[in-house]
Amino acid sequence: MRVLLENLTKRFASRTEKGRDVIAVNNFCFEIPDGQLVGLLGPSGCGKSTTLNLISGLETPSEGRILFGDQDVTRLPPEERGVGLVFQNYALYPHLTVEENIIFPLQNLKGKQKMTKEAMHEKALEAARLVQIDPLMERKPKELSGGQQQRVAIARALVKIPNVLLLDEPLSNLDARLRLQTREELRRIQRDTGVTTIFVTHDQEEAMSISDLIIVMKDGVVNQIGKPQEVYDDPVNLFVAQFLGTPAINVLEGELRGGRLFIGEEAVLDMPGKADGPVWVGIRPEGFLLDENGPFTCALDRVEVMGRDVSVVCTHGKMTGRNIRAIIPSEDRNSIRGETVRFRLKPAKVHVFDRESEARR
Ligand code: ADP
Ligand code: MG
Repeated sequence: MRVLLENLTKRFASRTEKGRDVIAVNNFCFEIPDGQLVGLLGPSGCGKSTTLNLISGLETPSEGRILFGDQDVTRLPPEERGVGLVFQNYALYPHLTVEENIIFPLQNLKGKQKMTKEAMHEKALEAARLVQIDPLMERKPKELSGGQQQRVAIARALVKIPNVLLLDEPLSNLDARLRLQTREELRRIQRDTGVTTIFVTHDQEEAMSISDLIIVMKDGVVNQIGKPQEVYDDPVNLFVAQFLGTPAINVLEGELRGGRLFIGEEAVLDMPGKADGPVWVGIRPEGFLLDENGPFTCALDRVEVMGRDVSVVCTHGKMTGRNIRAIIPSEDRNSIRGETVRFRLKPAKVHVFDRESEARR
């Protein structure tokens, strides 16, 4: 089911008389194509949960419309929207078994949708198989691990075959290993069912690894929408560039002069056709090439072993962060000698941003 958000805005009134309203979601316009998994990504407090709650109907928008397919659902109550919801805390009924928990959403169906006990049992088993917890149907939630509980929550969200599956940081309570495994499973389940899914996370790596599309938001405003690789390679502003990628992009003060990019006195890269002026320079850690005649000189601090690669940690007078990180293949580390390192830069890995607006130049 395609989901369309049109000028969607949510304002929360201030609790004090003098305080300002919070605009949690500010004029959202975007379309989530049918059958895709979309990652909604941004720092804590940027409005991700509010967006999801608007789509599910738990919150009513201050302005704007929400469409599922061609149907305007903006004023529909949650139970009539056909959404499946999964939250960070699994919120299972502790006194019910796994099977009873999964069946729960089917029990209140009315009229033509009403199901027999056998049919409900069948449906629950199907959903349980999908998330591979079918052998545990008789257990109570407290007899399950965190990962298993979250799978029960996912099965419960899927049992009615939702129009849209909404997941709000569903993996945050799992340990690192389980998080990795469960996210791959989520991707598989989403592919198998083809259900349009919106996945909220503040973890950029998680969003990039499983999403067809990512939506990067900040302070209630959508900054960029696109395929994960495209957004990483072509960030529209400094915020998006800094939010995606680990280690983070290196940011330095620079200046464009006569079609060349200067950092301090060094002309580090040709950038023909760009207007002169001060800029922020973003250099991805993988954008450095060791070169003893290279134009960009840094002071070496240390080399950190990462396994296949090493991280060359340097400093520079124009850097804005604590240091500069360059990722190079570990076999090249022997050519690092002395107190300075010189680099050539890969043009596709260097982005320049307006010093004022921070928009990409
Ligand atoms: P996220 O999920 O990205 O962490 P939220 O959507 O929960 O962000 O919150 C976005 C902003 O809206 C925050 O500033 C938060 O404090 C505010 N907010 C959320 N819910 C309410 C509410 N019920 N009343 C007032 N402010 C709220
Ligand atoms: Mg949230």
